[in-house]
Amino acid sequence: MKHRPHLIVIGGGAAGFFTAVNAARLHPGLQVSIVEKTNKLLSKVKISGGGRCNVTHACFEIPELVKKYPRGGNVLKKSFHHFYTQNTIDWFQERGVKLHAEADGRMFPTTNNSQTIIDCLLAEANRYQVKIVTGAGVNAIHPKEKGFDLDVQYAHGNEVLQADYVVIATGGQPKLSMFDWLSPLGLNIIPPQPSLFTFNLPKHPITGLMGVSVAQAAVKIIGTKLTETGPVLITHWGLSGPAVLKLSAWGATELADLKYQFNAQVNWLPGFNDQTIVPTMQSLRFGKATQQIITKSPFAAIPNRLWQFLVKAAGIPEQMRWADLPAKSENKLIQHLVNFTVAVNGKTTFKEEFVTAGGIDTKEIVPQTLEFKKYPGLFAAGEVLNIDGITGGFNFQNAWTNGFLIAEALKGKLSVQGV
Ligand SMILES: Cc1cc2nc3c(=O)[nH]c(=O)nc-3n(C[C@H](O)[C@H](O)[C@H](O)COP(=O)(O)OP(=O)(O)OC[C@H]3O[C@@H](n4cnc5c(N)ncnc54)[C@H](O)[C@@H]3O)c2cc1C
Repeated sequence: MKHRPHLIVIGGGAAGFFTAVNAARLHPGLQVSIVEKTNKLLSKVKISGGGRCNVTHACFEIPELVKKYPRGGNVLKKSFHHFYTQNTIDWFQERGVKLHAEADGRMFPTTNNSQTIIDCLLAEANRYQVKIVTGAGVNAIHPKEKGFDLDVQYAHGNEVLQADYVVIATGGQPKLSMFDWLSPLGLNIIPPQPSLFTFNLPKHPITGLMGVSVAQAAVKIIGTKLTETGPVLITHWGLSGPAVLKLSAWGATELADLKYQFNAQVNWLPGFNDQTIVPTMQSLRFGKATQQIITKSPFAAIPNRLWQFLVKAAGIPEQMRWADLPAKSENKLIQHLVNFTVAVNGKTTFKEEFVTAGGIDTKEIVPQTLEFKKYPGLFAAGEVLNIDGITGGFNFQNAWTNGFLIAEALKGKLSVQGV
């Protein structure tokens, strides 16, 4: 009987499923299995996007898209030409799942329910007879002259599975030691670091303003080149919001090296600096001469509660009117408005979305196929690779792109085998 080639995908997450269902659909002669360590499939998809699954992002310019990946953008630059955001939208649409974009570009299923994405992937797996084994953790991959042996551990014992092709889609791991099972392969692993976290300001009085947000603030990390502009949210533990999350992603390694202890500077009025704001302060002094400074924020961008906090922090008495503001106090207020400095001590992983930077070095793979240079027939997809995006649907986009490319790459290999 003719040998039917077997693809084993290790990991039943977004990347593993997308690889498996596309490979099974594109190559009917291929046997496709997913082996998943836990008893749950697509568990991160389920909780993603606050239970709504932010599937991708309405960004359709590849040069713009790659800028959303602090790590791995150079790899994706090559792969997005084969499968990118628009392909994701079309792929799900062709299977009856419509996505809609929100004002900030994040795209969700119109049902606003992550289960829709799970149901779609499970239906696809069923349709193309992907075999799914749960409670099966792969402990080792042994490359052979042809194909691979996988050591698989079940609750009731072990088994060796044989595969012609293998995809490592085991997701991000918080510790370097969790990549030990891959060490016999001699792959370079970039030590994992958390990304997409918020900044802790323990006991800082600004946390009393929890819930206050500023639509456009500039945040920079003193002593580094890290700076981001965007919405900032004050929480009961510190600073959050897209500008902070983006900083945490771009600075994942640098901030880990600083042990999450650093000074951050917030400019609540990024259109100004401490020089250019002076004429505005002067005109306020004359225009609002008799008004108490603290009463109302003169800047539409700064909510009253924050304004009052900054005025008090500058040591300006509640009764003081604009006309009486001493030059020294004005300077202090200016510093609080445009150079507000806080000591960050620690991080909190954002509850909506977090990822790990680091993982398998992308230098180990061919960007267009995700195949290991050292091991033909062995591929990697998703967060297990040193690829991660900022928040907004970019991490799933990476999983979909990787998965699709691997499925396509198998075409060439299978045709050689006459499949
Ligand atoms: C709370 C939260 C919300 C998020 N929301 C979003 C969002 O809305 N949009 C977005 O783009 N990204 C989001 N992300 C990030 C996104 O979920 C991940 O980037 C994505 O799930 C990565 O997919 P993956 O398939 O590579 O890994 P995973 O989804 O982690 O899947 C890996 C699978 O492999 C299994 N596995 C691991 N080791 C083995 C082994 N040795 N043998 C067998 N199986 C194994 C694991 O059990 C797991 O099921 C979110 C993350 C979190 C934590």
